Amino acid sequence: MFGLIGHLTSLDHAQAVARDLGYPEYADQGIDFWCSAPPQIVDTIKVTSATGQQIEGKYVESCFLPEMLASRRIKAATRKIINAMAHAQKHGIDITALGGFSSIIFENFNLSQIQQVRNVTLEFERFTTGNTHTAYIICQQVKAASAMLGINLSDATVAVCGATGDIGSAVCRWLNARTDIKDLLLVARNQERLQNLQSELGRGTPMDLETALPKADIVVWVASMPKGVTVDPTTLKRPCLMIDGGYPKNLDQQFSFEGVHVLKGGIVEHSLDIDWKIMSIVNMDVPARQLFACFAEAMLLEFEKWYTNFSWGRNQITLEKMDMIGQASVKHGFRPLLDLNRQPLAAKAS
Ligand code: NDP
Repeated sequence: MFGLIGHLTSLDHAQAVARDLGYPEYADQGIDFWCSAPPQIVDTIKVTSATGQQIEGKYVESCFLPEMLASRRIKAATRKIINAMAHAQKHGIDITALGGFSSIIFENFNLSQIQQVRNVTLEFERFTTGNTHTAYIICQQVKAASAMLGINLSDATVAVCGATGDIGSAVCRWLNARTDIKDLLLVARNQERLQNLQSELGRGTPMDLETALPKADIVVWVASMPKGVTVDPTTLKRPCLMIDGGYPKNLDQQFSFEGVHVLKGGIVEHSLDIDWKIMSIVNMDVPARQLFACFAEAMLLEFEKWYTNFSWGRNQITLEKMDMIGQASVKHGFRPLLDLNRQPLAAKAS
């Protein structure tokens, strides 16, 4: 059985979802209540592969909210993740994906040191960050969506925001080895890590976000920001492809600006309906078929019976592993979301 550990994007979102899911006692509560709420299994899942194979899984809501980081409730945030992992293991789940901020908190706060959670000794090989599949899908989105927009990669400047992160560094490695892009701009805050990435790649220009955006034909957003940033679309090149892989989204607005195309990054579409309700809660356009690539990684590991922490640690994603999970992804009927036209026309940009 596979598992997915997820969280909602904000306190407002959590309150609305609690009401919808039939937990009215959670719906009017503030952040302190969520800090003490235990993990819950809120969905059971059945997935059928394109090969006909069927698997079952469970969705564990950790009750973590990004506001816990913003308001420095670090202890609560770390407890959420470690308790959700123990909960998944206690329920006999073989391989569980740590969605969104779960793996970021696990790594940033060295949670591998906390192996004992009450009577559960965590077996880390039962968990995966899902980041190898996420990086693979984002790279496929870069390739296919740029072609759809007539952006020639050999003439393109690509900015990766969050370049030194786990997903961002894998995307940079792939862009460097598998494409002939003209320029690679590396965006993050820590200069030492940027220099190290530049040395590893043998190319790429470290740059701050404001300087990089107007130069980029393609922007890959994979920064771990608890809140999205606002971008002035008039400063962007046209056409400009923005692939937003953040969760919560790195961009806090939607664009209806001619020539600026925002694609939901790291999202896959399955070729068959999935029996679950959780993706309507996180506002997928087609909730029965669309999901986060990291969650799909846990499904792929279950389909293939690769019971191992396939994606683990930081900045260790190799092209070989991206190829391997990519082949499994295609085999079982997942494809990268390429819906450039279904952008909600919410923001006024001109
Ligand atoms: P990491 O923590 O490994 O890396 C985050 C990167 O973002 C680092 O390069 C960091 O560098 C940079 N960063 C953070 N804040 C800022 C900022 N304000 N400005 C510029 N750069 C910044 O994260 P992951 O690679 O694991 O995840 C990245 C994103 O992808 C997250 O939003 C996560 O939730 C999402 N995600 C999506 C998945 C999907 O299936 N679609 C799956 C898993 C994750 P520095 O600190 O030096 O600035």
